[in-house]
Amino acid sequence: MGKASKDKRDAYYRLAKEQGWRARSAFKLLQLDEEFDLFANVSRVVDLCAAPGSWSQVLSRVLIKGEKFGRAAWQDREAKFRQQMLGILPAATSDDSKQQQVAEEVAKQHRESQPRKDVKIVSIDLQPISPLEGITTLRADITHPATVPLLLSSLDPEYDAKSASGTQASHPVDLVLSDGAPDVTGLHDLDIYVQSQLLFAALNLALCVLKPGGKFVAKIFRGRNVDILYAQLKIFFERVIVAKPRSSRASSVEAFIVCINFRPPTGFQASLEEPLGVGQRLNKLAEERQRQMPMVADATMQNSARGTWDMFVQGSTQDMGIERVQEKEVYDDNEDSTEQNDLATRWIAPFIACGDLSAFDSDASYQLPEDYVSLDPVQPPIAPPYKRAVEMRAALSKASSK
Ligand code: SAM
Repeated sequence: MGKASKDKRDAYYRLAKEQGWRARSAFKLLQLDEEFDLFANVSRVVDLCAAPGSWSQVLSRVLIKGEKFGRAAWQDREAKFRQQMLGILPAATSDDSKQQQVAEEVAKQHRESQPRKDVKIVSIDLQPISPLEGITTLRADITHPATVPLLLSSLDPEYDAKSASGTQASHPVDLVLSDGAPDVTGLHDLDIYVQSQLLFAALNLALCVLKPGGKFVAKIFRGRNVDILYAQLKIFFERVIVAKPRSSRASSVEAFIVCINFRPPTGFQASLEEPLGVGQRLNKLAEERQRQMPMVADATMQNSARGTWDMFVQGSTQDMGIERVQEKEVYDDNEDSTEQNDLATRWIAPFIACGDLSAFDSDASYQLPEDYVSLDPVQPPIAPPYKRAVEMRAALSKASSK
């Protein structure tokens, strides 16, 4: 597919180039922020799986440069409108020039940058990330245990990995983002499994660095057992919501899990030796959480499942807008398995489609003007995984043309 036809078929790809974003993913984060006000009171952020860096660009523009997008921009507009209603500011009138004046003032207010204090942003990816002003970029594998001390020392220059006994950040962060996606194989279950491993790696890192009250936002692929994952996240966060931004194609299994108000169980310590996602630690934590914060009792609730998804949680029916269900789940073909009759508690997180309804539809093609000129990508990948294949193909065609 040529650049121009991709521009036509993917409005967000085109818009990203026009607005200077390194990837169309920027719109997903902007639309999530529009819905959840993600950047409110945030100054320290970790952006996992960040290459080529469009989410980091959003962070840089909002936190370092102080630009306003989404909800923050509406709030400004709304405040202005209220001030007009209260007579503090001149009301918009039918007089065009005055209206123009007010509109310009509002626009100016939006443009006025209000950089935040003590901003710290650390971005990590397997691929190199082309430098972004004010952002620390690390090339590392988020599933590797060595990445935790690397991240902690980036967040706190005083951190000494050799002498540090714990894994907790001394200067914790407000928000952890993860847009991690594996190279998709097309084998649905395998892709979902690998993606879940990335999510657990991101969650384990988040547990080391988040401050109480912090937020965690991560890409998920909605597979068969995803509602068990929602229940697992509820151990650590007060609110867990699944969100689908308009810029994420409806045809894709992709969605984002938005976890708000980090409140780990009392005494919880992130552990590199026993990361979550393997072993029984999540089960114990669920029981612990249940003891510490008794939720609505349910006589039918039983132990469950195994492996990565090895967990059950008693969710609270008091959670607003959240519905809890239980399902019989057979995990093993073996008739004698004691697990066979277990009940897995699945917890259905609320689902929200976000992004202004007037926003582009990511599944639609748009007619472009006849004189339309396609732009080059803002930042082509530095070392994409397909680079070697492209080089080999070029060498082959050169050799065969001799
Ligand atoms: N949020 C990014 C942006 O806005 O530019 C786009 C992220 S892209 C969809 C997914 C990224 O996940 C890729 O750059 C890939 O290299 C990264 N990734 C996949 N597995 C990873 C791992 N184990 N550790 C670190 N990064 C990983």
